[in-house]
This record gives sequence, C-alpha cells and structure tokens, in this order.
Amino acid sequence: MISESMKTLCANNSAIRVMFEEGNRLAALYGRENVYDYSLGNPYFPAPERVRQSIEAVLAEEEPNTIHGYMPNAGFPAVRQAVAENLNRRFGTAYSAENVIMTVGAAGGLNCVLRCLLNPGDEVLVFAPYFMEYGSYVRNFGATLKAIPSDSETFLPDPEALRAAVGPKTRALILNTPNNPTGVIYPREVLAALGKVLEEKGAEYGAPIYIISDEPYRELAYDGREVPWLPSCCKNVIVGYSWSKSLSLPGERIGYLLIPSDIEDYENVVQGCTIAGRVLGFVNAPSLIQLAVARCLDASADIAAYDANRKLLYDTVTAAGFSAVYPEGAFYLWMRAPGGDDKALCEKAKAYNLLLVPGSSFAGPGSVRLAYCVSPDMIRRSAAAFEKLAKEFHLK
Ligand code: PLP
Repeated sequence: MISESMKTLCANNSAIRVMFEEGNRLAALYGRENVYDYSLGNPYFPAPERVRQSIEAVLAEEEPNTIHGYMPNAGFPAVRQAVAENLNRRFGTAYSAENVIMTVGAAGGLNCVLRCLLNPGDEVLVFAPYFMEYGSYVRNFGATLKAIPSDSETFLPDPEALRAAVGPKTRALILNTPNNPTGVIYPREVLAALGKVLEEKGAEYGAPIYIISDEPYRELAYDGREVPWLPSCCKNVIVGYSWSKSLSLPGERIGYLLIPSDIEDYENVVQGCTIAGRVLGFVNAPSLIQLAVARCLDASADIAAYDANRKLLYDTVTAAGFSAVYPEGAFYLWMRAPGGDDKALCEKAKAYNLLLVPGSSFAGPGSVRLAYCVSPDMIRRSAAAFEKLAKEFHLK
C-alpha cells in the first residue's frame, strides 16, 4: 500500500506531464509534425558543442577514480572554486568554494535548502503564478506553501502584499526571475523593496526570513535586460542555479547552491544544506558532468535562437487575435484565455493538436503557458491552428 500523501501526489500528477503524454498520443494518431506541443520546458536547441568537448576532455585527462568516485558531499572543491570565481567575475563578488554546493539540478538544490530551513508547520511564501513543483517540495518537509498574487497586469510582485502575507511561521520566500511561467524579469528596485520588507518582518519576529532565489533562467534574458544579482539587492539570499536550461542539460541533473557568507546563521546553513543532500539520498551531484561544466562555465545557450522564437510565437498568437505578456526572459509565453477559462481553452486547443498548459496549474487561472523552447518550424506550422482556435472565440 502506498502512503496517503503519495496517493494525493499521484492523483495530482503534474498537468505538464499529462500534456506531454497527450502529445505523444496525438503524435501517434496524426504524426509528430501535425502536433504542436508547447507543454514542456525541455530545450529543443541542443547543448553547445563545448559541453561535449568538455566531457571528452574530462574522460581523456582525469583519473577514472576521480571521474566516477565519491567526493565531498558538497562537490569537487576545484569545481566549486571555479563556479565561485566565475560569479565573482560577473557580479563583482568575493565568493570562494566554501560558498558553493553542487546540486542535482535546481530541484535537488531547492529540496536541500528547504530540508535545511523548515520545521513541520512552517510556511514558505511565493508569488503566483509560480512553478508548480514548489508546493510538493515544501510539503516534503511538512511545511506549507502560501501564494501571494502578483500584479494582474505586470505580473510583478508587490512588496506591500508580501508584508501582509508574512507571519510568525514564515521561514522563506521563493523568488524566480526570469519567471516561469510569465517570462517577467523583476527589476532591481522591486527586489530591493521585497528584501526590505523581509528584513523588517524578520526583525519583528526575531528570526531571519530567507530569500531562495530559483534561477534556472538567469542567462535567458532578452533585449539586453538586466537580471539583478539577488544577493546584491537583498539580505539573506540563497541562490539556486541549474544548467538544465542555460546549457540544455536537464537530464544531466546539475546545478549549485550559492550561500553568501554574510547571511544569518551562515555556518549552519552551509553545513545543513550539505548534509541535506546526503540525507535526502542525492549524496553528491553527478561527478562527470560537474567536472565538465567547470570547463565551460562561460558557454551559453543560443539566446538569439530563443529570442527569435519569442518574437515568432508572440507575433503568431497576437496575429490570431490572442493577447499575451511579451516575455522579457526565460522561454515561456503567458497568454490570456479569452473569457478567462484557461482549462476550457486548453481543451478546445487539443482539437487542433495544440498542447498548452492551463494557468491554473501555476496558480494563475485565466491564462495559459506556452513553452517556446521548441523548433521554430513547429511555431510556423502551428499558426493555422491558432487562427482556428481564435475563431472559436470570435477574436477577429
Ligand atoms: N525551477 C523552475 C522555475 C523551473 O522552471 C524548473 C524546471 O522547469 C526547475 C526549477 C527545475 O529545474 P532542474 O531541471 O534544474 O531541476
């Protein structure tokens, strides 16, 4: 017999996964080229050639026992040092290997931080809409995730709404910028205002409220827009990074936590996050890909290709009559559901082999999410389907 909590998780199995499976079903019926699957954030553009070269160089140059052996739970010291130096060059900081813990992707890193910070009954805040897995991660440790609505037009977080939501049980706020699912990048002044609220509230309740900055889309910013380095805007920030999107490596499960030395209770947080990785069963981040990413820290995804997709998809859906938030970063388009029923729109879309994810799955009803980390050709081929879907709503 499986546990009661697992039964709930099975029943609520991610809407994105369900869509992904639906895509495979439709592809079997109509042919893959006639299905327009915007459901999953699985990059279409392959990892840069430098990743492969780095893996080959690791295999050629490192000892097998190094490549495949156990290591300190926080990861290879030299890899952590290389990550720290890369951040120092980019953000003018002074981190060292001690501030970096290599993790099993962003998901692994977030689970380590939450394991480290939370007691049962605690609360974690997040601005809605948000990446739906946060709820499961927080509940893993007996805590609850409380959503605060973002501004309904700009999808920016409101510091005063944050102030009203913080309570004595609040341990952390999860921030995600560039944002999945809205594509919005939070400006520096907004982040600073959020940080100030948490500082004041932390002082009032006598315990720090940490910001967990979930940053898998850090480099995916368009039009030269700045993605502020959170620890330079706010106190008590722990950064969770992942190469899943930036280097198209989601299956490799590789990322890191950056824990600045000046956060409250620093020593315990670093030790706690390191031990959390072990007790959760990750033990350490995968070794070969740790060694490989350390050799290509300045490589990047094909931002220009994502940017072209962004414009193409935005133009395609708006030409059909839909309205959407013009994305500033990440690779998602947040499109309004005509009439406000996101689930009905997704159901109707399926009839045209268009797979969209309802905003309700991100605590953002009234809109749908389209992942545009897909082939540009698929976007072009889907234009007629969007036109037909729009006609059903008399948009033109
Ligand atoms: N956080 C956000 C906002 C995401 O969109 C994703 C993946 O889509 C993750 C975390 C998980 O990333 P990873 O594959 O690195 O665990």
